[in-house]
Amino acid sequence: MSRSVVPADPAGPSTDGPVRTCIGCRARAPRRDLLRTVVGKDDAGMPAVVPDPRGSAAGRGAHLHPTTACYELAVRRKAFPRALRHAAGGALSAGAVGEYLERVPTDTDTADQAGRTTRNWSSSS
Ligand SMILES: [Zn+2]
Repeated sequence: MSRSVVPADPAGPSTDGPVRTCIGCRARAPRRDLLRTVVGKDDAGMPAVVPDPRGSAAGRGAHLHPTTACYELAVRRKAFPRALRHAAGGALSAGAVGEYLERVPTDTDTADQAGRTTRNWSSSS
């Protein structure tokens, strides 16, 4: 039996633009689907990983999916200092990226908030 499989999508990376590897789950994805992070400074002026959603900051960047799951994976693997070639003994806080990802509105967040509101109303004693 012969099946003629026609590829639905043309396998040409040139049309999709640059591809980067997520430092959390290590999957390759179009750069526009990933959040760029760079070494910046936190509120105390200490070196820290900060989000660069516009991709305009100078210097070496590390890319990851804009999800807390990939962020936590990257933190656990100490992927930020490695990807950013940071030479401060790995002491590089990425908390700003985590806060940024928690603030980014997503469909699941909206549904979760609606559920929480309903629960608050019903749990009055
Ligand atoms: Zn990922």
